[in-house]
Amino acid sequence: MTDRDQQTMSEIAVEATSEVTCPECGAKHIEPMPSDACIYFYECKGCGVMLRPKPGDCCVFCSYGSVPCPPIQIERAGGASESCCKS
Ligand SMILES: [Zn+2]
Repeated sequence: MTDRDQQTMSEIAVEATSEVTCPECGAKHIEPMPSDACIYFYECKGCGVMLRPKPGDCCVFCSYGSVPCPPIQIERAGGASESCCKS
């Protein structure tokens, strides 16, 4: 019986959900993040305000979420990212 650890260095654990905090009313909602798309607009379920990314951020999760979007997570982890929204 060989005791080999399977090292999956290419796989980076990516959070698939992010807690979005509304800057208007402070409501927090856990939202799923698509791994292959960016969410530019997010309607707060608390007060109904339409959130948009801050300048320099690619999506509302990067601006208001507890976790940035998956492509940014991978990029920060040093992995090769298929940037969904880099211009
Ligand atoms: Zn709100």
